[in-house]
Amino acid sequence: MAKRDYYEILGVSKNATKEEIKKAYRKLSKKYHPDVNKEPDAAEKFKEIKEAYEVLSDDQKRAHYDQFGHTDPNQGFGGFRSDDFDFGGFSGFGGFEDIFNTFFGGGRRRNPNAPRAGADLQYTMTLTFEEAAFGKETDIEIPSEETCHTCHGTGAKPGTKPETCPHCHGAGQISTEQSTPFGRIVNRRTCPYCGGTGQYIKEKCTTCGGTGRVKRRKKIHVKIPAGIDEGQQLRVAGQGEPGINGGPPGDLYIVFHVEPHEFFERDGDDIYCEVPLTFAQAALGDEIEVPTLHGNVKLKIPAGTQTGTRFRLKGKGVPNVRGYGYGDQHVIVRVVTPTKLTEKQKQLLREFDQLGGSSMHHEPHDRFFDKVKKAFKGES
Ligand SMILES: [Zn+2]
Ligand SMILES: [Zn+2]
Repeated sequence: MAKRDYYEILGVSKNATKEEIKKAYRKLSKKYHPDVNKEPDAAEKFKEIKEAYEVLSDDQKRAHYDQFGHTDPNQGFGGFRSDDFDFGGFSGFGGFEDIFNTFFGGGRRRNPNAPRAGADLQYTMTLTFEEAAFGKETDIEIPSEETCHTCHGTGAKPGTKPETCPHCHGAGQISTEQSTPFGRIVNRRTCPYCGGTGQYIKEKCTTCGGTGRVKRRKKIHVKIPAGIDEGQQLRVAGQGEPGINGGPPGDLYIVFHVEPHEFFERDGDDIYCEVPLTFAQAALGDEIEVPTLHGNVKLKIPAGTQTGTRFRLKGKGVPNVRGYGYGDQHVIVRVVTPTKLTEKQKQLLREFDQLGGSSMHHEPHDRFFDKVKKAFKGES
């Protein structure tokens, strides 16, 4: 069985303060302390509570857990359950169900042995800029569970059988009644003995520890479409965890992280890049070569190009992930002011300046400064 969510174990919200986490931990650790609680799984619950508290009370560990879940980020794998409240039964120490049943007069309970869908899985995949742009086919290995071959999924030691849970008589839940000034309130909670399955395993299968499932790694071939972008997800139907009691399997979600490129920046299907120009290239014009994802492209720089001018290379961007053609590449030119000049170059620039270089006209600029001057003289 996959690990339960730490917040759920402590019965607190994802935004819980440190104080709330501490409080919940104190309360639960008291309740499930093996010296006090003689229920068969109390020790295990106690361990689980302690582990959850160790992570959530530590800022760094908590942040890591919030981001990656119960996983090693180096493997790029994360797991989550879409149906936490159904799986394994023991849901938030009865709190959620108590409230539900109090307000809705009992509500509808599902048969604990009814088929349930398997949990969804999440896998984070890192792609290079180019791989994201052009797509890729690859095999990934994901942790998976399968029915235990030793006990054939019953969880009981070979030769023994699961018995009806003596605590809930097979119902999977326990009801308690309470009289209040407002009337009778029925609280139903998942049976803590059997975890809601209604069955009690006296002698657990040693291969799977009584869960009826064993972990293994599964290889899946995935085709990543061209044009995938940071944070987008790919759903691989039916590759999540297997269903329970014959239910359908969950889905696998691949979440993509795209590495930055040293030269290109991406915005949707468009790509942006900066290209340096010398003062002479900008002033006299030139033809330059610009790298694109689709190879180098010649770009004509007209004479008198200003720094910051943007040129568009149509169709040289990223293919649209839904197949609607290609984005564009935008080239922004930066005129680079020379810093190390020889005496001869300096002399030439001084001559250029004397020939009127410093009063070269580009109208909007001059008008702007005229206005500034007037404003300061109070002429406006
Ligand atoms: Zn087994
Ligand atoms: Zn039970």
